[in-house]
Amino acid sequence: MRSRRVGGVKFETLAVHAALRPDAVTGAVAPPIHLSTTFARDEAGVPLGGHVYIRESNPTQDLLEEALRLLEGGETAFFFASGMAAGMAILASLPRGGKVLFPDDVYHGFRAAAAEVLPGWGLRAGFIPMDRLERLADALEGGASCVWLETPSNPLLKITDLRAAVELAHRAGALAVVDNTFATPVLQRPLDLGADAVLHAATKYFGGHSDLLGGAAIFARDGELSKKVLQMRTLGGGAGSPFNAWLVLRGLRTLPCRVERQTETAGRVAAFLASHPRVVEVLYPGLPGHPGHDIARKQMRGFGAMLSFRTAGGRDFALRTVGRARLFIRATSLGGVESLMEHRASSEGPDSTTPQDLIRLSIGLEHPEDLIEDLDQALA
Ligand SMILES: *Cc1c(COP(=O)(O)O)cnc(C)c1O
Repeated sequence: MRSRRVGGVKFETLAVHAALRPDAVTGAVAPPIHLSTTFARDEAGVPLGGHVYIRESNPTQDLLEEALRLLEGGETAFFFASGMAAGMAILASLPRGGKVLFPDDVYHGFRAAAAEVLPGWGLRAGFIPMDRLERLADALEGGASCVWLETPSNPLLKITDLRAAVELAHRAGALAVVDNTFATPVLQRPLDLGADAVLHAATKYFGGHSDLLGGAAIFARDGELSKKVLQMRTLGGGAGSPFNAWLVLRGLRTLPCRVERQTETAGRVAAFLASHPRVVEVLYPGLPGHPGHDIARKQMRGFGAMLSFRTAGGRDFALRTVGRARLFIRATSLGGVESLMEHRASSEGPDSTTPQDLIRLSIGLEHPEDLIEDLDQALA
């Protein structure tokens, strides 16, 4: 994988060194976890270390936010208790009466929020096939305050041309927010392509070990939007715990290494599935036949470690295949070291629009040959 140079060093180096400073008091190389909820002031009443109360800010979170800002190339970054908390704080910061245009296969949590929560906040929602920019352009003619982008998308792995979509949004006076959970800044940096904000479920690749819940919002500018989102986090109480901030920071150190290996393995798994007689379609932007392949090549450094495939024999055969997996664990979520497999329509529930014959894979760090062997026996 080609390496990207950011802030004077290669991205891999930045991931290790961002906000890495031996502790001034103890010399500890690994950062301490500050669990204190409250922070002392001097005789004049000035906070000794710049912090007052944990929900507003705390030292462990500060370190993580510095690293997040550098890795995504933004001016400011905020850690949240979850990806949903980060996304909902952004949505809650948009002006009332506006319209948000979501991808038609947006992460199902935001689809549910659009139906059940946003109307109460005075926000309307539209759902657009974002891989077809003419449809976005049409929708923008009706006015919108925000264009929400997710590429590769979940679970159909559709690709949106980020630079072009952001440009359309801006020309219409809308903000462009990108959920970059699937790609991570290792593969794609939306702020470099003009986006106003990037959202992450840190629960996924950032944490990387399926053992924490966290979210992040990173902003191109420290401005009106970011200030509102910070206020929303403080007043809505969406801050993450210091322990989880520390785990995410620890995860970021190995993020490039993990994502690159996982991506490489996903490419091999995709090629295997594409040649399998019981697979009718592989949804992976790394395959030359994928409709978003050329755009993905242009805006991503690699095609990611998520892929979906559709089996011959419909829902029953898909469920049977998932049931026969031995190494892949049957579970939702993604981005961990262990490979996961799920019948996505079942995970999403009765209002799912996902094809019933679709299986989604999150590729972990196992040896590719073992994963392929497992798929081969499960599909037999
Ligand atoms: C998981 C996920 C979220 C939500 O993150 P949580 O940490 O579970 O709240 C949002 N977007 C995408 C693409 C996700 O995969």
